[in-house]
Amino acid sequence: MRISLLLLFFLLTSTLSGWAETDRRMVEVRDGIYRASSGNYHSLVWVTSQGIAVVDPIDRKTAQWLKKELESRFHQPVRYLIYSHNHPDHALGGDVFDDPRTIVVSHQYAAEDMEWSKLKTRLPELRFQDRLELKLGGKTLALKYHGPNNGRGSVSFHFPEQKVLFVVDWIVVGRMPYRDLPGYDIHGMIRSTREVLQMDWNLFVGGHAEMGNKDDVRRSLSYLEALYAQVRDGMLEGKSLEELKKDVTLEEFSDLANFEDWRALNIEGVYRTLKDASYILRR
Ligand SMILES: [Zn+2]
Repeated sequence: MRISLLLLFFLLTSTLSGWAETDRRMVEVRDGIYRASSGNYHSLVWVTSQGIAVVDPIDRKTAQWLKKELESRFHQPVRYLIYSHNHPDHALGGDVFDDPRTIVVSHQYAAEDMEWSKLKTRLPELRFQDRLELKLGGKTLALKYHGPNNGRGSVSFHFPEQKVLFVVDWIVVGRMPYRDLPGYDIHGMIRSTREVLQMDWNLFVGGHAEMGNKDDVRRSLSYLEALYAQVRDGMLEGKSLEELKKDVTLEEFSDLANFEDWRALNIEGVYRTLKDASYILRR
């Protein structure tokens, strides 16, 4: 009896610790630019001789892990904490970076949304509208707003010297866009992706899924364009949502992760946008 109780205890504690342990790792992807990951989430860390910039704390536990990791590996202060956009699943844990030398940065709309919705994270003090350039160690990180695409104030991060681009949520490489596109603007996703493809970079790092090159991002764009055009044309032909889910097969993209589970949901998301934002059924 005592042995089986002991066994039960070990089984229980090992399972619980297994649940609690999220896979966290930080890998240099190019010249001082690191991808820090927590499960399916990625944030970006830029390490220079004049300090560190962190994009997205993700959550409290990840932020605590990241702060320790940076202290033990680099012995440089965090000079900038930047939020990619307003959503709590990327922006929580900002208060962990409480060094007074850290300047918190985001787009104006992301900051407003965090304030108005009372998000419990450190609020941005440096806010911008169109474009902001941060300099560290003689190099540049350029932040750019491309209009609405996902949530509020979601911007691109461009390292012109290292030729790296970081984008969260509105570009995903090797995976389908998220479910029924909650909080996404499909026009904005397409417009913003076209804009960043005009910029000079050759390594894409995303807040989720795979890294890639320009061809990989072009393929994600092709998917969005095909999805949008086929749902729109079907609606103009008078097809119902159920018919669209049958007819819009998008087979040539079946290699993308989550294709089986999310294809019909993606169609729903575009249908909803065309119905609610474009009033396409009121013509
Ligand atoms: Zn996300």
